[in-house]
Amino acid sequence: MSDAILVLNAGSSSLKFSIFEVGRGADGLLARGQIEGIGTAPRFVLRGARGGAAEEQPLPAGARDHEGALRFVLDQCPRWLEGHRIVAAGHRVVHGGVKYAAPVAVTPAVLAELEQLVPLAPLHQPHNLAAINAAVGAMPFVPQVACFDTAFHRAQPEVAQRFGLPRRFTDEGVRRYGFHGLSYEYVASVLPDIDPRAAAGRTVVAHLGNGASMCAMLGGRSVATTMSFTPADGLVMGTRVGSLGPGAVLYLMQRHGMSASEVEHLIYHESGLLGVSGVSSDMRELLTSADPHAAEAVELFVYRIGRELGSLAAALGGIDALVFTAGIGENAPAVRAKVCRAAAWLGVELDETANDAGGPRISGTGSGVSVWVLPTNEELMIANHTRHALG
Ligand code: ADP
Repeated sequence: MSDAILVLNAGSSSLKFSIFEVGRGADGLLARGQIEGIGTAPRFVLRGARGGAAEEQPLPAGARDHEGALRFVLDQCPRWLEGHRIVAAGHRVVHGGVKYAAPVAVTPAVLAELEQLVPLAPLHQPHNLAAINAAVGAMPFVPQVACFDTAFHRAQPEVAQRFGLPRRFTDEGVRRYGFHGLSYEYVASVLPDIDPRAAAGRTVVAHLGNGASMCAMLGGRSVATTMSFTPADGLVMGTRVGSLGPGAVLYLMQRHGMSASEVEHLIYHESGLLGVSGVSSDMRELLTSADPHAAEAVELFVYRIGRELGSLAAALGGIDALVFTAGIGENAPAVRAKVCRAAAWLGVELDETANDAGGPRISGTGSGVSVWVLPTNEELMIANHTRHALG
């Protein structure tokens, strides 16, 4: 019997899971799927299992929270495991604070420290920890490993992590943390095989999904990123506002009498592509919509990426490669083309045919910057980390 690792990624209303056979990389994927609609009308969606078709079904009554969702997944596991045994569970955890620059095996003391970080990520961290607690309860003898979205960015120079606030707030943890670290780390792990010059040099990765951010990497290490204290900062996203400026938040509260939780809802759930277009947060819909506001939203999305690219290139002192990843980055050639046009001043030259074909290399032979489309794999990164953290 060989070993398998269960990877869990818990959101506010979803629990995504993957199961990997140990030691076989992406080829070791046994099954992946999710429970969505936790708390309302939960549904089980199997995105794929080795030797099996995708499935979708409502969840039986009782499986209405993270614990119930996990129990359902664990009950189903034997049919995907093909005789493998789950030897560890790896969890995506949004915040590791200043302390966690690497994955960590979960102990009661670690869990208590991660609880302390809830105020830094109140929309995500409690759900991540709920999944860990549920997994500890359901599989008490299976080791659990926490893998952090912030960890990859802890390598940044201190100056890149600091706000211009009085020191006592920095010391308390009000810093630029950055997120999507597992995705950037995955790209950094595959880049040496694809573009050794860029891997050893200056690369900007654009992770463009519902959540979107960019990272400047020097020799595979993060030196700057667009998200900061929260994942609402930086680029315009599906429903998140991106960079807004503290004065605008004050204006909303003082002039419109909005409460902190109303502003929170506005900047996380009502803004971004959805807020600007009034049509949708989904890039597919915006690209096919005839509504001029949809086009404006796409234009703003691209404009902000272009601006941030200039800023990240400055942090690196120039760039050797640009990488697109995540839902939009991997699947929207029109968006990639617009970004590359905005980056022509950096020496980016697009190969339109390769771009329309999805890459992986989409820059022309004369381009001073190599441009790539690389599918991210945060789940595999978590599985690998989990295995290494447990030796
Ligand atoms: P999440 O941050 O939720 O993981 P994803 O990485 O799955 O998000 O990206 C979701 C985004 O990718 C959505 O805006 C979706 O419209 C976009 N997307 C997916 N496929 C395509 C496509 N073929 N063309 C344009 N956009 C796409």
